[in-house]
Amino acid sequence: MNRVYCCFPGGKHKALTMSYDDGRTQDRRLIDIFNQNGIKGTFHLNSGLFDRGERIDPEEIRTLYAGHEVACHTATHPTIARCPLPEVAQEILADRQFLEKRTGYPVRGLSYPNGSLSEEIEELLPLLGIRYSRVVGSSDSFALPENPYRWQATCHHNHRLMELGEQFLGLFKKQYLYLMYVWGHSYEFDDKNNWDLMEGFCRMMGGKEDIWYCTNIEFMDCMDDFKQLQFASDNSFVYNPGARDCWIAVNDGTPVRIPGGETITL
Ligand SMILES: [Zn+2]
Repeated sequence: MNRVYCCFPGGKHKALTMSYDDGRTQDRRLIDIFNQNGIKGTFHLNSGLFDRGERIDPEEIRTLYAGHEVACHTATHPTIARCPLPEVAQEILADRQFLEKRTGYPVRGLSYPNGSLSEEIEELLPLLGIRYSRVVGSSDSFALPENPYRWQATCHHNHRLMELGEQFLGLFKKQYLYLMYVWGHSYEFDDKNNWDLMEGFCRMMGGKEDIWYCTNIEFMDCMDDFKQLQFASDNSFVYNPGARDCWIAVNDGTPVRIPGGETITL
């Protein structure tokens, strides 16, 4: 019987994703650094705060964040664990509606404003069309998220970034999948005058053959797509009912692409 393992696109086993909150004007410089190095990220925006100073112009959402993911951060950034649940629902749906008008795609990601969450909010999110939500803090780990609604990053960019990046580059054991996930706020680079940290990190991490550079939702969709694959009971063939390609490693680790809508003999 074939041994089949889930893989990232291209048969890769390492993924890197970035996650930045609040949509301040410093996102422009950060995206420039990401784009120069082929690194992808997710930007969590507050639709009700664009008239406050130092935020990006909502009219530039489509172009500025092209190739990256635009995601929710609630409309007005309340500490939602202290709010009535209907208000939380409204904060998220209003944010989705505003952002979807400007991106043209379903906005399904969230990061908790002020890191605030509760069990009730976690249960509410799937009902609002939200697929994942990021908490604050650093896990110092490259493990995949067990609970997408309590998704903790590997590190904030001010926490052991280069050290963890070097560790990640050195990972080679292909029996595991690894994710490095970095979060923060782009204005923090101005506050600490440490743009060179992110420039150095992206230069070091970019352009690697064995790393999949993805947004937060691309990562989650890849994991979900694998679960949708329909394998023959003896793993001799597999059907991909989705529209996106899936990748698996078979037996000795040979990467196999399963195109959307097709059945492949293994
Ligand atoms: Zn925030």
